[in-house]
Amino acid sequence: MTDQVRQNAIERAWEDLVATARRTAAAGLVVGTSGNVSTRVGGLVLVTPSAVPYDRLTPEDTVAVDLDGNQLLGELAPTSELPLHLEVYRNTQAGAVVHTHAVYATAVSTLVPELPPIHYMAAALGGTVRVARYALYGSDELAANMLHALRERSACLLQNHGTVAYGDSLDQAYDRTAQLEWMCRLWLTAASLPGHTPSLLTGSQLREAADKLQGYGRPR
Ligand SMILES: [Zn+2]
Repeated sequence: MTDQVRQNAIERAWEDLVATARRTAAAGLVVGTSGNVSTRVGGLVLVTPSAVPYDRLTPEDTVAVDLDGNQLLGELAPTSELPLHLEVYRNTQAGAVVHTHAVYATAVSTLVPELPPIHYMAAALGGTVRVARYALYGSDELAANMLHALRERSACLLQNHGTVAYGDSLDQAYDRTAQLEWMCRLWLTAASLPGHTPSLLTGSQLREAADKLQGYGRPR
């Protein structure tokens, strides 16, 4: 890439990143600055800065780090959840990562070790969605727990904390986050009727759905 091509790619990616971050807020998946979004451009990871409302982000606020977390662009500090994002990029082919504190997903993360397979769309995330064991936000321990929960999956829950989803693009990472939040809401709704227990899908039913959805939403 020439410098100009690279510069244009970074500018476009930052615009997309800010638009995606604003979408998470508009959809109610995050409140204030409680989530964060990143995307990869070559060896650079563009990431939302810490503690700046998304509606105030401008092109001048571009923050980028390398895969070791060294800041290469920007004056603002990267999100405190940077270890989560970098761990995904170091271990997958992800092009983008979205982290939220979405309310239904976070509620489910306090109740069960995995989201019960209540809908076939779990197959679009690689199978039954696991809950990563609790660790302090921003810690390497949390990043390690997340990576464990993400094996063969493109999304997971973080216990008493929120969601992580990745994809080839910001749109895909966002859509997976929204699907996950929807599935958590579905399970909580179905499980809340006294005297009734939701029916769940079997492993073979999920695999059958995964085969039909092939190419759509599988982790790489
Ligand atoms: Zn968080």
